[in-house]
Amino acid sequence: MISITNHRIDPTASELKFSYDESPNHSGLFRTGTPDTLVMHFTLGDTYTSSVNWLKNPNAKASAHLVVGRKGEVVQLVPFNQIAWHAGASQWNGRSGLNNYSIGIEIANAGILSKRSDGYYTTFGKRIDNDQVVLAPHKNGGPERAWEAYTPTQMAVVEQLCEALIANYPISELVGHDDIAPGRKFDPGPAFPIESLRSKILFGRKDEEERTLDRESRNKGIVTAELLNLRQSPSLNAPTVTEPLRQGTRFEILKIEGDWVKVDVCLEGWVSRKHIKYFE
Ligand SMILES: [Zn+2]
Repeated sequence: MISITNHRIDPTASELKFSYDESPNHSGLFRTGTPDTLVMHFTLGDTYTSSVNWLKNPNAKASAHLVVGRKGEVVQLVPFNQIAWHAGASQWNGRSGLNNYSIGIEIANAGILSKRSDGYYTTFGKRIDNDQVVLAPHKNGGPERAWEAYTPTQMAVVEQLCEALIANYPISELVGHDDIAPGRKFDPGPAFPIESLRSKILFGRKDEEERTLDRESRNKGIVTAELLNLRQSPSLNAPTVTEPLRQGTRFEILKIEGDWVKVDVCLEGWVSRKHIKYFE
């Protein structure tokens, strides 16, 4: 459990190897209603410490709110109510300059590796064991390349940080730097499980099933499938009411019948219960 007090991680209420080490590289306060987005990055640095030092260096003109090391160690560089400089020229959902809307998390990782006769190496000449290498093309295009794997400890901490942030700020989106600056940026890259983290953080936790009964007394839900048909009656053969609902659409639940839920999204209709989550 990670707790946030006064826009900083509370070291006394968090079981983390944590430190607060402020970077001068930030601007003023977020506007009301933001931050609403989490942006994932890899550091591309030699070590965790060298990356943290760089992000604190005024010459870098770059920072992030958090840096997560490979052993799960965490440093916070900028308070969560202030704008850090991690996204650069970026666009998402019709907005540009994502620094103004987002919390940036840098995750210690060497990024793209180069192959030599005896194995894979980082830009800084450090050899990476084969079991720490992910071979994959980038989702934005290009050939298959070698990427350093993220560590399980690091990923568990990233997930906990995202959960703490979503509990404290109006977060409704989680993206990679490579989503908001495609072509220019490759991080966090194909070794990072961005889709599963995104759905876990935005659309419900793993233990959701256990809490389903509890939540059915609540009457709001959210679409988890990419597209979900809204039908006139609770049957796969029933005609649709309108174009499919998009992932993230929120609705009122009017009625539950077996595998079907009757919802109100201004229009009324039935959706498959498998593709929604309840929310508080
Ligand atoms: Zn980045």
